[in-house]
Amino acid sequence: MAQADSTRVQTVIGDPVAEGGPVTRAKLEEIFADIQSDLRYDHELNGCLNCGICTATCPAAHYYDFSPREIVQLLWTENLEGIHDAMQEKIWACAQCYTCAARCPFGNSPGGLIMLMRETAIKHQMESAKNVLRPFSRVMLKLISTGNQLSPDMINKDHFADWGPNISKVDAPLKLLRRAIPMPTLNTTATAWEVNLKTSVELYTIWEMTGVLKQLEGIDENLFDVITDIMDEKREDWKDFVAEQQDA
Ligand code: SF4
Ligand code: SF4
Repeated sequence: MAQADSTRVQTVIGDPVAEGGPVTRAKLEEIFADIQSDLRYDHELNGCLNCGICTATCPAAHYYDFSPREIVQLLWTENLEGIHDAMQEKIWACAQCYTCAARCPFGNSPGGLIMLMRETAIKHQMESAKNVLRPFSRVMLKLISTGNQLSPDMINKDHFADWGPNISKVDAPLKLLRRAIPMPTLNTTATAWEVNLKTSVELYTIWEMTGVLKQLEGIDENLFDVITDIMDEKREDWKDFVAEQQDA
């Protein structure tokens, strides 16, 4: 009897109603291999009873079409199409509160696994990652260029006019908000964004060596250009400072 040359495994996965084009099986395998090869993967996934305790305690599951149980099951059963599908929207609903990790009887961390999927979505320059991160470009600019992001005195309508009409209703009790941040140096933009030159240059080396800059270039080239200009300028200032000290 002739050997069957067909397979039930599809080589190309496509959704006729989705906007994105079909995805090859090789790409799905590559994405899963990236998630699975992370050192944290085996620590955060030990098995899954499908009990749903994580979803029952998940705040995001109350408000969105999202279930950590479903995400963990996709990973545990190696459902490559489902994993890719979840990375288009669902993984971005997680609030990263880790209530699920505290409750899972298997010691899994669904929130941690979702973080790995998000990092992989960024690495693969998925549209979902670009769309989610776009409104945070100002936060990323400050975070990457200074190491800090928001400080309480920014939470007012003058700083966030582009966040829509509701921001005008914010009347932030700054003194109270500041108490939530123990370090007084992080209480205002004037002190939080005033970073020592040497610290900045070291921070930029960390961003480069850990691949953060490369990932940023993949998801937002304009922001990458702005940030690398700032970095070049600070590095020049640092070189001048060192030269001055050596001449003195
Ligand atoms: S970390 Fe994410 S998945 Fe886990 S409980 Fe919090 S919101 Fe839900
Ligand atoms: S991840 Fe844990 S809590 Fe969630 S369904 Fe699986 S075994 Fe249950």
